[in-house]
Amino acid sequence: MGLLASIFGGGGATTTEAPRPPAPSYSGVKIHPSVDNGFPPATAGFSGGTLTCKCATNPVKVKIGAQTAHNHVCGCSKCWKPAGAIFAQIAVVGKDQVQVTENADKLMIVDESATIQRHACKECGVHMYGRIENTGHPFYGLDFVHTELSSESGWSPPEFAAFVSSIIEQGFDPSKMDGIRGRLRELGLEPYDCLSPPLMDAIATHIAKQSGKLPA
Ligand SMILES: [Zn+2]
Ligand SMILES: [Zn+2]
Repeated sequence: MGLLASIFGGGGATTTEAPRPPAPSYSGVKIHPSVDNGFPPATAGFSGGTLTCKCATNPVKVKIGAQTAHNHVCGCSKCWKPAGAIFAQIAVVGKDQVQVTENADKLMIVDESATIQRHACKECGVHMYGRIENTGHPFYGLDFVHTELSSESGWSPPEFAAFVSSIIEQGFDPSKMDGIRGRLRELGLEPYDCLSPPLMDAIATHIAKQSGKLPA
């Protein structure tokens, strides 16, 4: 029964309705190579791995000593993306768990004025970790990392999609956004145009405690 008919009681058993069309599948819509074919759950007890940049020789290596959290795909213009990907995939981990172990001299900060200082390889351009230096920032103490740079499996899987509308700012066709959001939902990655509600709540709570609107 159609929605109006169910609300207004019209039609009833005498109405002949066409079969409901199947829900559209967006499986051809590409998001990011690490999520396009689905992704496994985190491995219990997983305790980190090593991120390696894309340089064929003398790659930068960064050891991550713990499981990541809040993994998500991100449509913003600042996160590093692999070639051809529309979204980045990024997670956080305590900065004490991030250690550059090889070729640290190849790292440079992409934008010193940005809130998140992204340390990238000068040669291949890959961002190895992003760090917040402002001790008053809600996410101070967390580094942003791309676990796809690791050969280990067991990392926390993506949970949502952030800054989805921002892909338009980078030239994505706005008429194709239904497909992007449809595909994200198919993958179980709820699309948000900022961060997810828990992370937005965490930011707002931090700000309210700093301003005294909530007890610290
Ligand atoms: Zn490199
Ligand atoms: Zn981003």
